[in-house]
Amino acid sequence: MKTMPKGLLVVLSGPSGAGKGTVCQLLRQRNPHLAYSVSATTRSPRPGEKHGVNYFFLKREEFEAWRDRGEFLEWAEFCGNLYGTPRSYVEERLASGQDVLLEIETQGALQIRASFPTGVFIFLLPPSWAELKARIIQRGTESEEERRRRLAKAESEIAMLRAYDYLVINDRVEQAVARVEAILMAEHARVNRFSDEELKAQLEGQLL
Ligand code: 5GP
Repeated sequence: MKTMPKGLLVVLSGPSGAGKGTVCQLLRQRNPHLAYSVSATTRSPRPGEKHGVNYFFLKREEFEAWRDRGEFLEWAEFCGNLYGTPRSYVEERLASGQDVLLEIETQGALQIRASFPTGVFIFLLPPSWAELKARIIQRGTESEEERRRRLAKAESEIAMLRAYDYLVINDRVEQAVARVEAILMAEHARVNRFSDEELKAQLEGQLL
């Protein structure tokens, strides 16, 4: 049996308006041990967003330099901007046994799937297409043109659903978070996540 890293790499994707941000926020509040990977992006900050907290906001040249030095675990272009997951943070946390949460789009998730086949891939959807449209419009942080692009992009993101392990419908945020927590609990109990040595130690501990 193969030894796997103890920390789970959890990938959460879903179209704009699925409520990924809100779900991640509550999930992190309720599970402070869950490490959240702050991505780098070339997009401009929205009001209230902070460098190093929401994203590392980089100039395109800076992003490309990080990328060319191999500092991203994955990266992708989304609606004209570049987004990437800094490699060292994720690798260090996983190695120390912590679970790590990535909130990324589908092209990046596919790259992660190739390098971390034991990752947990969760797709978040709003309860309906009408709800998704309403949420993108309500957010009001993007221009009309940007909203139109994000709606079109949402369709192509949803087409990737089958590349994921789990589907979570975000009708109410507490329920969506509870479903994600249930998935993580089940994933931690998978027998093939333990090495022979770990299983043996576990059994001996319980039988003594
Ligand atoms: P937003 O501009 O709305 O913050 O993010 C746009 C999209 O980029 C979202 O689907 C978000 O999940 C995704 N995203 C954020 N960070 C990353 C990243 O590091 N890598 C990839 N591939 N996508 C990301």
